[in-house]
Amino acid sequence: MNQTIFNFSAGPAVLPHVVLEQVQAELLDWHGSGMSVMEMSHRGPEFMKIAAEAEQDLRDLLDIPANYKILFLQGGATLQFAMVPLNLMRGHGKASYVQTGIWSKKAIAEARRFTAVEIAASNEDRHASYVPMQADWQVSPDTAYVHITGNETIGGVEFDFIPDLGDIPLVSDASSHILSKPTDVSRFGLIYAGAQKNIGPAGLTLVIVRDDLLGHAPANTATMLDYAVYAKEESMHNTPPTFAIYVAGLVFKWLKQLGGLERMAEINARKARLLYDAIDESRGFYANPVETRNRSRMNVPFTLADAAMDEAFLKGARSHGLIQLKGHRSVGGMRASIYNAMPEAGVQILADYLRDFARQHG
Ligand code: PMP
Repeated sequence: MNQTIFNFSAGPAVLPHVVLEQVQAELLDWHGSGMSVMEMSHRGPEFMKIAAEAEQDLRDLLDIPANYKILFLQGGATLQFAMVPLNLMRGHGKASYVQTGIWSKKAIAEARRFTAVEIAASNEDRHASYVPMQADWQVSPDTAYVHITGNETIGGVEFDFIPDLGDIPLVSDASSHILSKPTDVSRFGLIYAGAQKNIGPAGLTLVIVRDDLLGHAPANTATMLDYAVYAKEESMHNTPPTFAIYVAGLVFKWLKQLGGLERMAEINARKARLLYDAIDESRGFYANPVETRNRSRMNVPFTLADAAMDEAFLKGARSHGLIQLKGHRSVGGMRASIYNAMPEAGVQILADYLRDFARQHG
């Protein structure tokens, strides 16, 4: 990362500059061990310490209760689309999903390979622009769990509440907003997240799961698809993604030093406001279709009223050091991802650029 370049990629995404500097400083010789973290045995004392600290720091940051396990997996959030139904059916005949956009649809399609799926609620009636209120959900009492996508990375739709489902476990795909604010983990049965947005490098997937939900996978489940194996063997049944865990651990320490998730949440709220204000003040030059209460604080998608200007917009942005602003290939337009590691200064420059471009071309 270059300090004059601001990278708005949706993931893999920007990492804290100071973390990258530390990685660079330690790359050849970690703490006098004579080894790079990449070269260490995952069962050696050095790496065991790195992994244990990463886990503890994450537990501290999210205040994760003792009856929740933290698992370090691979396979991305996409593998969790399968592992969740493989592990959590517990003899139930169906699972429930709240459909809020492209990522929840993918989770639903994968779950259907393993179980009947009940769509508890959907936002398709209004172009996937909001999160249906829980009062409007239909959840069968005998469902195995309810799955939500806490933040839709492409649509920019974020939950503004934690559903209350009584004894039915709540499962959340938190890939693109984990660690962006304090979260009451005890309200969830399971939370999962690919690392490459708000945690660290790609290749690591995080699962936080309540321990009573472990050990229910059918007997013929592949070993590597059974959460209980990771829980029992401290995520070291086989070789874990060691380097990614190390970098994630440094990101956790960075967050702690910064003041934790309350502080991060304040900064993130300010950053998001800068962009949404610039969009809303443009009187239609830019548009974001998401209902205000569900506007994502992490991914800000927007369109230009005249799509013929998209290329000029992106070219101008690049000349200001603002990169990776092109929207997801499935929806077009623009998207600014402003994860924890995106400095406020970068968002301010983008907000200023939005105003300047609109003035020049409006
Ligand atoms: N869920 C969400 C909300 C995502 O944003 C993504 C990736 N963009 C995924 C799942 C898929 O993640 P992965 O590429 O790690 O499988």
